Amino acid sequence: MTDHPKYLVTGGAGFIGSHLVDALLARGGPVVVLDDLSTGRLQNLAGARERGNLQFVHGSVLDEPLVDKLVGECDRVVHLAAAVGVKLIVEQPLRSFTINTKGTETVIEAAYRHGRHVTLASTSEIYGKNSSGPLTEMSDRVLGSPSVPRWSYSTAKAVDEILAELYRREYGLRATVVRFFNTVGPRQSPAYGMVIPRFARQAVLGEPLTVYGTGRQSRCFLHVTDVVAALVSLLDRPEAEGETFNIGSDEEISILDLAERIIACANSTSTVHRVSYTDAYGPGFEDMERRVPDTTKLRALTGWQPRRDLGDILVDAVADARGEAPQQAPVAVP
Ligand code: UDP
Repeated sequence: MTDHPKYLVTGGAGFIGSHLVDALLARGGPVVVLDDLSTGRLQNLAGARERGNLQFVHGSVLDEPLVDKLVGECDRVVHLAAAVGVKLIVEQPLRSFTINTKGTETVIEAAYRHGRHVTLASTSEIYGKNSSGPLTEMSDRVLGSPSVPRWSYSTAKAVDEILAELYRREYGLRATVVRFFNTVGPRQSPAYGMVIPRFARQAVLGEPLTVYGTGRQSRCFLHVTDVVAALVSLLDRPEAEGETFNIGSDEEISILDLAERIIACANSTSTVHRVSYTDAYGPGFEDMERRVPDTTKLRALTGWQPRRDLGDILVDAVADARGEAPQQAPVAVP
């Protein structure tokens, strides 16, 4: 392996993926992206393509021969390809579940066959209805009913984590799991439910901000460049192998407060409009009350610290919604 391993990034044309590709190329690349462009966009890779050292492959992680070939041609794998976003999961549950389980199994099997290290993207959703906080990597999963579509995503990602762990224990798979909490930044589509780009767009258009439920539910939002900096610092740490890490912000805010801050930040005349979960997502939807990560493990191993706070994130989100260039922070390249 050279100083710059060749990375395969599945889902590399997506929101987090394209920012990771930028960071890996900034370090010298080379990078191969596998993406089916279902939610990812080639436009997200425009800057990366100019830089060179990037190979884009239009295809699916469900295509076993293709995944096997690409994994074999690369030194390391970061598996980000997934169906994400509460709206998408609820509207297309079976397709989402299949991609998020079979797709990951295909990548894990290929990584095992070729002896490659794989970093698997997981999610804060795997903690389920555990609303205590802050959540450490060992905090319990509190399971929702399998009959509630929202929990299918959580279940699929938990299956992925378990699969990686069993391959690791039984066959020596080299794997690291990262659990992303709410992530925000340029290139995030408002189409699949993500609250900040939605609120920012509504505020800029002067439309009511659609606060679901009571608005007392809370989240912590981390800028995508800080997420990628954490991810890259873990890629560089051999000690991360076989481990799981939360990646998220610990700056907690209720959704109602978030709506008000975005209205103020956009200097907008919008009002807050309460929408029931049933109207938003259909009957039987269950939300998470609280989602706060404990990132002690990540910080202790890598020294990572976020560079941007919620105020910076909201300024960027409003600029993005106005079609202005956001003030992107440079990605920390260790
Ligand atoms: N949300 C909201 N209005 C919207 C979109 C989302 O009130 O237009 C709420 C949603 O119910 C949840 C929070 O914002 O409580 C975060 O939603 P998102 O889909 O961004 O992420 P996740 O639910 O996966 O944390």
